[in-house]
Amino acid sequence: MKLSYSAISSYQTCPLQYYYRYVEKKPSLPSPSLSFGTSLHEVLNWFYSVPTPDPYSLDEMVDQLEKAWVSEGYCSPEEETRYFLQGRSTLEIYYRNNIHDFHIPAALEHGFGIDMGFCTLTGVIDRLDKHPDGGFEIIDYKTNRRLPPARRLDEDLQLPIYQIAAEDIWKVSPEKVTFYYLLLNHRHSFKITDERKSRAIETIKGVAGKIESGLFDATRNNLCPWCDYIDLCPEWKDKPKPQKSRTSPALDIGQAVDELVLCHKLVTRQLSRIESLKDTIRQYLGEHDIERIGGSEGIAYIGDGGELSWEDLE
Ligand code: SF4
Repeated sequence: MKLSYSAISSYQTCPLQYYYRYVEKKPSLPSPSLSFGTSLHEVLNWFYSVPTPDPYSLDEMVDQLEKAWVSEGYCSPEEETRYFLQGRSTLEIYYRNNIHDFHIPAALEHGFGIDMGFCTLTGVIDRLDKHPDGGFEIIDYKTNRRLPPARRLDEDLQLPIYQIAAEDIWKVSPEKVTFYYLLLNHRHSFKITDERKSRAIETIKGVAGKIESGLFDATRNNLCPWCDYIDLCPEWKDKPKPQKSRTSPALDIGQAVDELVLCHKLVTRQLSRIESLKDTIRQYLGEHDIERIGGSEGIAYIGDGGELSWEDLE
């Protein structure tokens, strides 16, 4: 049995949700938070992947966000723009706070599969740093909007899992493991004691045992509105489904200016693309001595005044 932190956490939230996702392998739906998190992880991975200790510039980092941006799951271009601008300002703050002690990490985006006897623990470590004093630190990026309560962080399984993985893969015992809350510009570090590791292993063993026994009861919880499988779930059959609230990042006046500049940039880019396509088509018509040419969407032709025109077939 393979278990990742996300799978364990899904089982703890609702065994039936785990069953749909990890046993039946039903796909999960794209969402703004998923796409946003993937985009920022992607940029930070790129940022630290430099071959020499000369970091990229802030402008290059922002350009990389445009390239790595995942557009899926947003309900409107406005919502996507707000997320994009928030991603950009988050990376700018990250850059200013971290560039002074930039160093190439000891490991990046390292996937693992550790045989625990009762299951194989899988996951990906975002980053492993080696500090000048020789100590190691595991960093996991988070894009939560709020800090979880301290009690939940103390019981969290993800960091003990990473500690177990680091000890197994690199034979090092990291001095601390850190959640880096990017949107809050806040690091929350823990020292994982042997006692916490043992507690985590017992919890994982308990979850693995229940999965092995086929216990997949639905457990209603306050995340049901965001569950990808609510339409299949017997708990909500013939009952009014709870509505998920969508809260995009708030738009402040600085962001409104940024959005204006960004939209203008996008329109300018599209206009120059239109001119370049017109040149290509005009040249083709001239070279082949024809007046019209069709695509699957429309027809382009030389109009009465000698200008290139086009018609949409719809
Ligand atoms: S809707 Fe709620 S109860 Fe049903 S599977 Fe999803 S999380 Fe579980």
